[in-house]
Amino acid sequence: MPDFTAHRHPVLAVRCPDCGRAPGNWCRRPSGHMASDFHVSRKVQADAVFIDQHGPDASIERIGDGWAVDPCGRVGIRPQQEQP
Ligand SMILES: [Zn+2]
Repeated sequence: MPDFTAHRHPVLAVRCPDCGRAPGNWCRRPSGHMASDFHVSRKVQADAVFIDQHGPDASIERIGDGWAVDPCGRVGIRPQQEQP
């Protein structure tokens, strides 16, 4: 079961469906260079697995050097409203 708090970034908890990188490994470009961002399919996958594990109201937040799951982090937050 993926652990979203175990890695440097929560998205690293799942394998990338696009470039096939294993959990814990950053996405790679076809050239072999490290990508500057994760593949979109991996973010979608991580989101789906996270909601499956923790429910639609949960969020994950940066706490110090690590990550913590807040079971009610999305309650009261409107997804369209982003901070400037
Ligand atoms: Zn990837």
